[in-house]
Amino acid sequence: MLAGLYIHIPFCVNKCPYCDFFSITDTSLHSAFLDALITEMQFIRHEGLQFDTLYIGGGTPSVLDVKSIDRIIESVHRSYPIDTEPEITVEVNPDTVTLEQLKGYQRAGINRINIGIQSFHSNNLRFLKRSHSVSDIHQAITWAAKTGFEKLGLDLIYGIPGQTKTSWLSDLQQAVASEPQHISCYMLTFEPGTPLGKGRLKGHVVPMTDENICDLYETARTFLADRGYIQYEISNFAYAHAIESQPLNPAHNQSRHNLKYWSFAPYIGLGPSAHSFIEPKRFWNHLSVEKYMVDLTKGRLPIEGIETLNQEQMMMEAIYLGLRQTKGIPIDVFNNMFNQNFHAMFKDTIEDLEEKGLVTCSQSHCALTPKGMLLLDSIVAMFI
Ligand code: SF4
Repeated sequence: MLAGLYIHIPFCVNKCPYCDFFSITDTSLHSAFLDALITEMQFIRHEGLQFDTLYIGGGTPSVLDVKSIDRIIESVHRSYPIDTEPEITVEVNPDTVTLEQLKGYQRAGINRINIGIQSFHSNNLRFLKRSHSVSDIHQAITWAAKTGFEKLGLDLIYGIPGQTKTSWLSDLQQAVASEPQHISCYMLTFEPGTPLGKGRLKGHVVPMTDENICDLYETARTFLADRGYIQYEISNFAYAHAIESQPLNPAHNQSRHNLKYWSFAPYIGLGPSAHSFIEPKRFWNHLSVEKYMVDLTKGRLPIEGIETLNQEQMMMEAIYLGLRQTKGIPIDVFNNMFNQNFHAMFKDTIEDLEEKGLVTCSQSHCALTPKGMLLLDSIVAMFI
């Protein structure tokens, strides 16, 4: 099976209060980090894997200049066997990108660009303390279109306190009007330890009610489906269109890289906090950029932890990852992988969830219903 390569760029212009991805704002470390990352590529074994996706995420990769991104991609090609037609994605933020930069990314081989716009409304951007403005968003989208990337993805956030259905619909409308191939709609979460999570605990921020969140989610699903965006994962929608006289292909615009995470494909993560999975092992790097760099300068891999998943953990992972996708858990694959009978094993749980209208199970797949999609974690817990 072809593998994915993820590179975590741990820098951001400022720290958004809801974010629990690892990043720092100290720009003085860019160059030393880059040297460490290149060293890590030389150190880490690829276990005979062949890669067909590269995802440069973060953090905010676009805080690095074109030369740095170019250096990273060149080094990836030198260090790993890369398929002939790889999907190469870079995440950018609207205020840290220029037309010249985008052109440079394209020359470097990037064919998919993902812009973290979050909302087209300045009151929402202010609440999220994003460093960009609405006009930065329009400018970045115009530049991306002008550069002519094969694939454009836009990220939106819903469930922001004060957000109305009308303003959410307007976000969706403006996103669709930009004709991206991919749209992600992420629910705002109040992660423990983040300023937003702490604000909630202190009563400074009041989250949207579950009922309103469900309404916005349903609004997105219906609106996007009506405009040709097929949902393939809880938060992800890909535009389905016929390509050069071939039949309609809903999979064409899906994120090939993210699909690897949800289908047990092997992936290697480089950079601070990055995770890797090569069945049955999971391993992850130090969070601290300093620790990461010190290890590499001393000739050690910057690995913080390693875990070998047992059969039961693998099964739970298969259920969790399968249920995230709209097609659900492929029962044959599950049965063959674990030498089990899924239907017999989870008979009572399935009956209970079906009765509550949270899952649908056929002979071939077991999937969440739209109602079940917002309850993924508690539904997975019922399989344990
Ligand atoms: S820009 Fe993205 S990665 Fe950086 S703090 Fe904000 S949400 Fe997190």
